Amino acid sequence: MEYRQVGGTELGVSVLGFGASPLGDVFRKTEPAERNAAVHFAVDSGINYFDVSPYYGITLAEARLGEALEGRRDKVVLATKCGRYGGDEFDFSAGRITAEFEESLKRLRTDYVDLLQAHDVEFGQVSQIVEETLPAMRRLQEQGKARYIGITGYSLKNLMEIAGQAKVDSILSYCRYNLLVTDLDRALVPFAQERGIGVINASPLHMGIITERGAPEWHPAPQAVRDAGRRVVEVCRAWGLDASEVAVKFCLEYAGAASTLVGLSSRGHVERNLKAMELQVDAELMREIAEVVAPVKDFVWPSGLAENYG
Ligand code: NAD
Repeated sequence: MEYRQVGGTELGVSVLGFGASPLGDVFRKTEPAERNAAVHFAVDSGINYFDVSPYYGITLAEARLGEALEGRRDKVVLATKCGRYGGDEFDFSAGRITAEFEESLKRLRTDYVDLLQAHDVEFGQVSQIVEETLPAMRRLQEQGKARYIGITGYSLKNLMEIAGQAKVDSILSYCRYNLLVTDLDRALVPFAQERGIGVINASPLHMGIITERGAPEWHPAPQAVRDAGRRVVEVCRAWGLDASEVAVKFCLEYAGAASTLVGLSSRGHVERNLKAMELQVDAELMREIAEVVAPVKDFVWPSGLAENYG
């Protein structure tokens, strides 16, 4: 396993990271033995970076990850989030995030996290995130409850606006660097590198689109993007390859991000994504994929407050 530093922090994370949202049953119902086996196998295989949020499965994912990591906490870089709690329930106030973070720590069965991130900041006002949320998170850092702090979201414009006004240690963005979209590389990565901010890339499968199973019901992408994902799956199948593995390999090769977070909840998927690290992808296959993706390449859907789109 290769490990990379998250910007100017002392966090060394595995290039393949464990996205724990599926532990909250957000893609399908999971079983306890399956979940625990996935986490234990991942840790034993050198995956040391785990990302979760109280929002995933509305506290379920945090509680299940905490249970699965019992006895293994010191082997991992643990990241959680604050500010997003229910389906559309956002509260970035200092009081709420401070109180909710104590609950996150209890669910995670630890007294500190390595990274605390404001979750989906484009749903909040920039002024509140800069003047209230991040200062409150810095206070939690001073108390030793979070080693570093960061922001996460979909809108690159919004993430850069916030990070231009307040110091953050990391930025996590999702669905902005994978086989369907690569604008993270043009916009956010040069910005972050100049400032020593670590970049985390999430959702290499475009939140389930580049899989045999296809996108979940709630997926925000329009039909044309889902169709392009389905064609990527078919093109890879014709080459005798699993599109998800090709997609993960594509992201792991990208040096602009410290880690790529894949949503995981089964040992089988952990195995397949580890296997993807060894995959050799033919240039002709990449050309065929680029061709089917071209009509929707870099398509971005609206997310959050209208003033934050981008
Ligand atoms: P993803 O693109 O990683 O897709 C996950 C889906 O693909 C799940 O259904 C999973 O079971 C399936 N899958 C995983 N490996 C597979 C394989 N080899 N073959 C077939 N299917 C496979 O999307 P994601 O889960 O949304 O993103 C990954 C992680 O990134 C999340 O779990 C979360 O930790 C993080 N994330 C954070 C934010 C945020 O902070 N705003 C947003 C999105 C994702």
